[in-house]
Amino acid sequence: MSNKFKVPRNPEEIMTWINSIPMYREDHPNDLSFKSKEAIRDIQDACLVKQMDRLEKFSPYYRERFKEWGLDPTSIKTIDDLEKVPLTGKGDFMKDRGESFKLDMDFANIMEYILYEITYTTGTTTGMPSRFYNTTYDMFMQSWMFRIGCKICYLEPDDILMNLFPFHFIPHIGYYKTLHFASAVGMTLCFGFTGAALPGFPHNIHRSMQQAIEDIEKKKVNAISGIASYIRRLIITAEEQGRDFSRINKIQALGEPVPKGMREDMRRRLQGMGAGEVFISNAFGFTEGQTAFQECRELGGAHSGTPQLYYFEAVDESGKRKPDGEPGLLAITHLDRRGTCLLRYLVGDIVAVTNEPCPHCGRNDQRLVTAAGSTYGTRTKELMKVKGTLINPEIMRDAVANTPGVIEYQFIITKEKADDPYSMDVLKLKVGADAGVDLKKLESTLKEKVKRAVELTPRVEFVQCSDIFNPGQTLKATRVIDERPQG
Ligand SMILES: [Zn+2]
Repeated sequence: MSNKFKVPRNPEEIMTWINSIPMYREDHPNDLSFKSKEAIRDIQDACLVKQMDRLEKFSPYYRERFKEWGLDPTSIKTIDDLEKVPLTGKGDFMKDRGESFKLDMDFANIMEYILYEITYTTGTTTGMPSRFYNTTYDMFMQSWMFRIGCKICYLEPDDILMNLFPFHFIPHIGYYKTLHFASAVGMTLCFGFTGAALPGFPHNIHRSMQQAIEDIEKKKVNAISGIASYIRRLIITAEEQGRDFSRINKIQALGEPVPKGMREDMRRRLQGMGAGEVFISNAFGFTEGQTAFQECRELGGAHSGTPQLYYFEAVDESGKRKPDGEPGLLAITHLDRRGTCLLRYLVGDIVAVTNEPCPHCGRNDQRLVTAAGSTYGTRTKELMKVKGTLINPEIMRDAVANTPGVIEYQFIITKEKADDPYSMDVLKLKVGADAGVDLKKLESTLKEKVKRAVELTPRVEFVQCSDIFNPGQTLKATRVIDERPQG
């Protein structure tokens, strides 16, 4: 079978492609991202006024803050007024694991407020992930958002998609939102169903990467969604096996930055297995956005897509907005939600935001654009991303430091292959242990504790204490070393 997909290259080609798909053509008049900047702003202002009223009435967290800040929520009438509202930090959200950010039931609108789904943030300050709630209204709105999102990144109702996100013991958005975006446009969906075992669970429910490779061939899969470096490893393995991957033409390589060179590497390997054009999207996702914001062109910027739902700002630490294109802390405001609702929430990334029309597709919604190098967000210092999971090094250190038998320890985050900057992340834990300790037992204790703390299992290596920390040479031991190439 030949690969017929041609990636549209300019606004005219994009409109031709949209008009060729009945669902997208029919949706088009209601797709706000193509409206004028002024029309978008009017709708955002109107949504914000209603959302502020909702927060005042139903948000346990913001109701209290408005009092404390001396802020009258009815004084926030426009997106410009929003700048007067103090920022909400990750620490504020995680303090009670997000509970006080969920709106109370509005008895006048019960249908909208029925609790429908919970996903969990990756990254914790307490060792427990925070809950992020969706009500019926949020889920319905997300189906619309996913339709618009698929349209941005050229996914089509006739695509056959494999969900390669792990089925994890903590529900994250990757696995679940893939179900919803496939259903929102009616794609055919199949599953790799890989993932880490639940500690102590008696059955092996997961399938292997090898099975996924075979299924991609057999089930005629043309689109893949998953953690970027995992997809790449799967592609490399398939290439070694001489598989027929000629149908693959769209990849959602998510969860971590995918620089240009990595995309080209994947594309070259796929083309070696018979593929034609392949659109590799590194949509920018995080739990608080409940989606991955899509690219219309590789590295062209991450589109908000549904501007009635989000307002993005790049801000400084005091909350002052940065001009278009200048890097700052990403703050998002939910403009129309019922479950977990956030106002000027600092996601933990440094990004640049643009309000200018997209030169590639002509949309007028906001975009997150590359501020440096070839990736969207760089993490702020307190959190780091390993294997697509946001982790707090503090918690990881705690888990090990308080383990009997451990004298010295050091985490090293590196790449599986030293000569391959795009290979998968590896979390290593070097340990200098007490003499006479049962090393096998200590190893499994450490793996278990780190996994519970940050959801990742380290490769444990026992070494001499002096290999980690030599007091004659350095003043302090370095507990976490990130050896991955930056940028
Ligand atoms: Zn665009």
